[in-house]
Amino acid sequence: MLPRVGIGHLAVGFASKRLAPRVSLGWLVLAPIFADLLWSVFVLLGIERARIVPGITKAMPLDLEYVGVSHSLLAMTGWGVVLAGVFFASHRDARGALVVFAGVLTHFVLDWISHRPDMPLLPSGPRVGLGLWNYPLPALATEAAMLLAGVFIYLRITRPLPGGSSRGLLSLLAFLLAMNVGAYFGPPPPSVQPMAALNLATLFVVWMVQRIDQGRELVTA
Ligand SMILES: [Zn+2]
Repeated sequence: MLPRVGIGHLAVGFASKRLAPRVSLGWLVLAPIFADLLWSVFVLLGIERARIVPGITKAMPLDLEYVGVSHSLLAMTGWGVVLAGVFFASHRDARGALVVFAGVLTHFVLDWISHRPDMPLLPSGPRVGLGLWNYPLPALATEAAMLLAGVFIYLRITRPLPGGSSRGLLSLLAFLLAMNVGAYFGPPPPSVQPMAALNLATLFVVWMVQRIDQGRELVTA
């Protein structure tokens, strides 16, 4: 079983460097994946409920029974305020805080497109979802294209510090793409708890992009 890293969400983080160049990539990537990290924690604590149902969508065998605390539009707005508030308190950067807030909310938009109608507007519903996950190849192609585009945007506005290179970033990109292909076509996870626990490994990606970002500088015209 491979972790299902939301590469579409990661893509938003990379691309948002354009809107807030001075904000570190770690923060920019953390914001759009924040809801999934919360989901992992809440599932492991038993606050939210989900189960593995192979075939429920063709690309994702996940039945989200209750995800109102991490994934409802209302709750995500609240989490966006919380994360942006923490960012503002530590950085005093209003524009950056706004981009962090918007980054958290983009999670709902992307999940709304890919999920079956299981994304609650309010914690108790109604639930919406366009179901791109019922079309595995277009779903995978869309997410992969988004990640490539996001990293491309990031590469255009930053460059390695003298003596550095972009190799680490490109290796991470290849790794994420390969892992997602494996997760898409591999067997479903045995149960939702290990899936949620493995999803917390996305924090490692946040740490890695933060390190990569520290080895780069903004390209000034
Ligand atoms: Zn999600």
